[in-house]
Amino acid sequence: MSDLPNLPIYELFAIRYAARDAVRSEHFIGGDPHDGPMPMDYFVWLARSDDHIVVIDTGFTAAMAKKRKRNFLKCPVQSLADFGIAADMVDDVILTHLHYDHSGNFDRFPRAQFHLQEQELHYATGRYMRYPHLQHAFELDDVCGVVRMNYSQRVCFYDGDDEVRPGVRVHRTGGHSAGLQFVSVHTKRGWVVLASDSSHYYEHMESYRPFSIAFHVGEMMASFDRLKKVAPSPQHIIPGHDPLVMARYPAVAGTDGLIVRLDEAPSA
Ligand SMILES: [Zn+2]
Repeated sequence: MSDLPNLPIYELFAIRYAARDAVRSEHFIGGDPHDGPMPMDYFVWLARSDDHIVVIDTGFTAAMAKKRKRNFLKCPVQSLADFGIAADMVDDVILTHLHYDHSGNFDRFPRAQFHLQEQELHYATGRYMRYPHLQHAFELDDVCGVVRMNYSQRVCFYDGDDEVRPGVRVHRTGGHSAGLQFVSVHTKRGWVVLASDSSHYYEHMESYRPFSIAFHVGEMMASFDRLKKVAPSPQHIIPGHDPLVMARYPAVAGTDGLIVRLDEAPSA
């Protein structure tokens, strides 16, 4: 990829907002022969330049945490506000996909333009949603909310790889969800790739084993290749749900250990 000299530099943060206990066998198709604890973190991400604010995914609400029995740490919209990013300051919201843990709180960003792969909305409103197994990770109210926002000219649709703004790009992979996309952001250490659920943990893309929730296993495998092709190095890829992200990146002071910087080099 060409790095134009005038490309904006974004600061990039991961904001952890929820967690749950889990075991390894839950996270791999076919289970795991050495079953043991493998807790899951839930994140939203913030990219901030001198004059532009992008939020990547919007997490879920306290009510949803209760319904789905997740350990809610702090509302991500509140974390953003406490960090100096009021919801009405956010210019763009990129939704990597429409699963409940990535698209709740969509109604909290009054000024933002939303960015989504068109295929994801087709999937979330289409024929496959008659199957409980495939609809399980979606919340109907969230999906309907995105449809409503589209009727209000609030959603930009993409068909494949594209540029949202100079320094912020989306890349469609499918796999985990039919219209899943990941995001690359231009930072002071180069392009950092937010994999979101293209690789839930480091281990998925490292071992080429598929995550348990899959629409298309082949596309999921190919998404691991895509991540590695787009990122300058493996250290520039941020998995979507891995607690190791909080361990490897420097914490932002005063955020109760809930926010780390992704535009600094990781410790591993
Ligand atoms: Zn997810």
